Amino acid sequence: SVTDQAFVTLATNDIYCQGALVLGQSLRRHRLTRKLVVLITPQVSSLLRVILSKVFDEVIEVNLIDSADYIHLAFLKRPELGLTLTKLHCWTLTHYSKCVFLDADTLVLSNVDELFDRGEFSAAPDPGWPDCFNSGVFVFQPSLHTHKLLLQHAMEHGSFDGADQGLLNSFFRNWSTADIHKHLPFIYNLSSNTMYTYSPAFKQFGSSAKVVHFLGSMKPWNYKYNPQSGSVLEQGSASSSQHQAVFLHLWWTIYQNNVLPLYK
Ligand code: UDP
Ligand code: MN
Repeated sequence: SVTDQAFVTLATNDIYCQGALVLGQSLRRHRLTRKLVVLITPQVSSLLRVILSKVFDEVIEVNLIDSADYIHLAFLKRPELGLTLTKLHCWTLTHYSKCVFLDADTLVLSNVDELFDRGEFSAAPDPGWPDCFNSGVFVFQPSLHTHKLLLQHAMEHGSFDGADQGLLNSFFRNWSTADIHKHLPFIYNLSSNTMYTYSPAFKQFGSSAKVVHFLGSMKPWNYKYNPQSGSVLEQGSASSSQHQAVFLHLWWTIYQNNVLPLYK
């Protein structure tokens, strides 16, 4: 049922919280029918916790150090995987039967409830290596058993890219061949910096994008925004395409209109 399903994101500091807030508000703009959950870590300030609670139904602090023994152990054996193990905490949300995880640097452009028709583990191809999925958007089923297996996998094999994407791809390693229903269309995780490598396809399909992902080092909050003119200013040499500019502009519009007022 819809009451035990949720959209879940993660923010480990106040900067990523800005992304989570824009994401949360973007979901609310499109007839939200599921719960909204944000996982945070102890570094998140008390002010941001208050602001997050205005947008999210649940603000859940996860702390690797105080966690169950098996998490603690996984963390101590592989401290470099700290952030990765934090993302895996989403599998512990067992009061939900199914969830959609979205990175804090994603933006929802329309209602995406149909994602809940998919099973674990569904994700969209990674634009850099399409036989791997991108772990910025995925459908999963909370389970302490799966969580434990994921942590065991992390302890035994680490992550080939040092992050959650490498770990999840080696854990769900038959994703690319086993079941086409678990391949989310690219429009559910459209990376804002890749679309123009095949620009005729973007021209054809870009307008049906449902989730944009600002993956890579330049996040929307790294740009400057002029609230008077409503324009996003380029920093240094990072020149964005026309397409990316539209999404950046939308991110900042939501930030300006739907996030900043929450601080008042
Ligand atoms: N994240 C976070 N704090 C960090 C880095 C990452 O909370 O310092 C979370 C956040 O939800 C983010 C996700 O982990 O969207 C994955 O990181 P990121 O989006 O920066 O990686 P990319 O998608 O660019 O590979
Ligand atoms: Mn991301």
